[in-house]
Amino acid sequence: MDNIKCRQCGACCRGLILEVEVEDAIREPLIAEKARPFKEDDGEIYGYCLNNREGQNGFGCFFLVGDKCSIHATRPDLCRYFQPDSQQCKDARKLDKYCKTKQQEVAVG
Ligand code: SF4
Ligand code: SF4
Repeated sequence: MDNIKCRQCGACCRGLILEVEVEDAIREPLIAEKARPFKEDDGEIYGYCLNNREGQNGFGCFFLVGDKCSIHATRPDLCRYFQPDSQQCKDARKLDKYCKTKQQEVAVG
């Protein structure tokens, strides 16, 4: 989310399904420590879910603190490549009860 258009509101981190790869957890070990692993039948881990049922919106990322990412420098690829002002961004902002950009334009569609 380094794009200049990102409003740094955190709505995507609170409202989207956040499934990341094992490689992301190798780069940032806190992912394996805190997030929920996805496992094959043989127990092998093939990814992690960052959504925290105890988090903001009852869904927000384990690593969201206020509106900020606490692992920004080592955040997963999913987050690095997320496009501000994409339809997913607009939908997340529209649906997010904490989003501070709500009074600004959130033209969905
Ligand atoms: S929802 Fe969009 S504007 Fe808000 S932090 Fe995510 S990418 Fe940035
Ligand atoms: S890791 Fe950081 S950027 Fe990615 S969803 Fe969580 S709080 Fe947002």
